[in-house]
Amino acid sequence: MSGVGAQAVTGALLGALAGDCLGAPWEGRHAVTRKRARARVRRALERPVLAYTDDTQLTLALIDHLVGDTDRVEPAQLARRMLARYDDRRGYGAGMRRLVALWRDGWDVDDAATAVFPDGSFGNGAAMRVAPVGLRWAGDHDVITHVAERSARPTHVHPVGIDGAVVQAHAVAVAASTGAFGRDELAALPAATDELRAGLQAAASLPSTVTAAEAARALGTAPIAHRSVPAALWCAATCEDLEHAIVTAVALGGDTDTIAAMAGAVRGAADGPASLPPGWSHVLEGHDDVVEAARRLAGSLDDGTGDRT
Ligand SMILES: [Mg+2]
Repeated sequence: MSGVGAQAVTGALLGALAGDCLGAPWEGRHAVTRKRARARVRRALERPVLAYTDDTQLTLALIDHLVGDTDRVEPAQLARRMLARYDDRRGYGAGMRRLVALWRDGWDVDDAATAVFPDGSFGNGAAMRVAPVGLRWAGDHDVITHVAERSARPTHVHPVGIDGAVVQAHAVAVAASTGAFGRDELAALPAATDELRAGLQAAASLPSTVTAAEAARALGTAPIAHRSVPAALWCAATCEDLEHAIVTAVALGGDTDTIAAMAGAVRGAADGPASLPPGWSHVLEGHDDVVEAARRLAGSLDDGTGDRT
């Protein structure tokens, strides 16, 4: 049996959306105290609407692909889904913008990825969008690894960029299927590269009592896989709820939207949609679209197609 219930699916996707929307206004800042980060999040929530960024857009594209095309993940078809959702104003990085230009010119997906990043990208772009893979194949360890790798391929051929996606997919899967994500779950995640292995070890042993600045120094907050996935998982593992995890990710600074989105996906997978604090849903742009996407993904699990590998 693969996949998890609708509650975990909706919780994970809303948690990711909330992290993306609440983290985005503070991207690129230095670390601040959690108290200051809480004030930042409160201030952000006073806006009429909080826009989502590439993290959410690409997650939705992956769901389009899994539900609408094939659940085997075909990198070329996934790239087409990413292109269909692509909106230049969503904070994409320079590499992604160059890739999109090549895709539009009809380039082969693998050729385009290596043309833009000759050694492959070790950015966190494949990890930021991978939650649907963990939800769909939760409990099926080898399939998660295989499919997460394939889902990275349109943009990431570097082993560290791919490994970030595999680790994040497994984190979402274990949170969704057990309803728990703490230090033990974090420490047990499989990492294939030295970079991610070292990052997970550091995260598993870093006390929750350190300052955000100390955590940012120890784990990193850069938009690269091994210096953001461990920080996100530390937030998810050491914070008691979704709100605290997102506030802590904002406190770390750096790539706040993606770190908060990845932390939010894991915490939301464990805790379900009720973990979204009251008053958040109407501020998050795309809230209803994400709930609808969660329904489609969970529905495709219910009708048995989630078992096809
Ligand atoms: Mg972003």
